[in-house]
Amino acid sequence: MSDIRITKVSAIETCPQGSNLIVVRIDTNQPGLYGYGCATYTQRHKAVVTAIEEYMDQLLQGRDAMDINDNWSVMMNSSYWRNGPVLNNAISGCDMALWDIAGKALGVPVWQLWGGKVREAVPVYRHSDGTDFDRLDEVISRYLEEGYQYIRIQYGGYGRSGKAVFLKTPEGSKEGAYFDPKRYLRSVPALFEHVRSRFGDEIELLHDVHERLNPIDAVWLARQLEQYRPFFLEDALSPEDGFWFKKIREACATPLAMGELFNNPMEWQPLIENRWIDYIRCHVSQIGGVTPARKLAAYCEPFGVKTAWHGPGDVSPIGHMANVHLDLTTTNFGIQEWCGMEQDPRVQEVFQGMSEIHDGFAWANDKPGWGIEIDLKAAAKYPCDSSQPHWLLARLPDGTSVKA
Ligand SMILES: [Mg+2]
Repeated sequence: MSDIRITKVSAIETCPQGSNLIVVRIDTNQPGLYGYGCATYTQRHKAVVTAIEEYMDQLLQGRDAMDINDNWSVMMNSSYWRNGPVLNNAISGCDMALWDIAGKALGVPVWQLWGGKVREAVPVYRHSDGTDFDRLDEVISRYLEEGYQYIRIQYGGYGRSGKAVFLKTPEGSKEGAYFDPKRYLRSVPALFEHVRSRFGDEIELLHDVHERLNPIDAVWLARQLEQYRPFFLEDALSPEDGFWFKKIREACATPLAMGELFNNPMEWQPLIENRWIDYIRCHVSQIGGVTPARKLAAYCEPFGVKTAWHGPGDVSPIGHMANVHLDLTTTNFGIQEWCGMEQDPRVQEVFQGMSEIHDGFAWANDKPGWGIEIDLKAAAKYPCDSSQPHWLLARLPDGTSVKA
C-alpha cells in the first residue's frame, strides 16, 4: 500500500489538429503528483468524457494510485457489461494516467517500470497518399530523404482508386463518401507495380484496406499483392469477417496485419492462436489501455505475431508516447504507425515533451512517467467538434451505407 491516493479524475478535451483528443488527468493527494492518459475516441468523444467524469471519478477517488492492476480490474468489471469502445477508452485514459503517476512517484520513465528497453528507438512507417502517381512519388521521395524506410501507400483515400471518377448511382441517392470496390481492387496491384518499379525493392511498402472489401475480394487482393512483397496488408477484413483470414492465409504468403477496431479479447484470440495474422495492431485506448496491451503482446509472442499498434491522428500525444514505451519494451515488436502530429505547432503549444522522430525512428525521452506536460490553457483554445467526418459516411455506388 502506498500513500498516494486518487483525489480527482477529469477529462481534457482539445482539438489542436482537427481530431478531437481526450486525455484523462488523475490528481492525487501528493502535491504536484498527477498523471495523463489517452482516452481518445474522436467520433463519440462526449460519451467518453461522461464516462470519465460521471463514473471513473467517483469509482477511483480515494483508491491507491499505485494499485494499477486492481484499479484496472475494478474499472473493467464493475460496469458488468464491458468491452465496448466508450468504456474501454475511459478505462484506458485512467490506466495510462496511473502508469504516468507510478513513473513520476518512482522518478523513472514508464519503459523502465516495464523492465527496460529492448531497443533504443522505434522504427515507424509514414502515410503517403496521392490521387496520381506523380503526387505519390513526391511524398514517398520526401519520406525516403528524411530517413524513413517504411511507407504506407494509398491511392486517393480508403477504398479509392486515384482521381474521383463518375460512379453510376441511382437518382436521389443520399449524400456520402462513395467508392467503388471493384475499381479499387483493380487499382491497388497497379499502385504496387508502379511504386516497386519506381523505388525498387529496398523500401518496405504497406497498404490499408480499411475493411472496405467483401471477404472473397480480400482473398483475391492479398494474392495479387504477394508478388510485390508488402511489409503487410492492413485490415483486409472487418472484425466481423475474422474467420476469413484463414482463407487468405491458405491462399498466399502476404503478411497480414489486423485489429484497430478490436474491443474484445475474443476478437483477436482465434486469429493469433491459429497464426492467421502476422501483426496485431489494436488501438491501445480502444482495448482499455497499456495494461491489457502488454498482456496482448505477451500472448502474441509464442505464436510469432508481432505488434504494430495503431498510430493515427486521432490518438493524443500521450497515446503515441504510450505506444513508443510499449514498442521499446516489447521483444515481439514489429513496426509503429506514425502520423507526425508532433511537427504541428498547434499540437506543440498544447503538449510539451512529445516523442521525437530522428532518421525514421521514434524516441522516448528520459523524464519520469510519459515525460509529457499539457498546457491546459492552450488546450482550451482548441475546442472539440461533434460533427460527423464526411469520409466515414461510406457508401457503395448503389447507395448502400457500408463499413468505413
Ligand atoms: Mg488503419
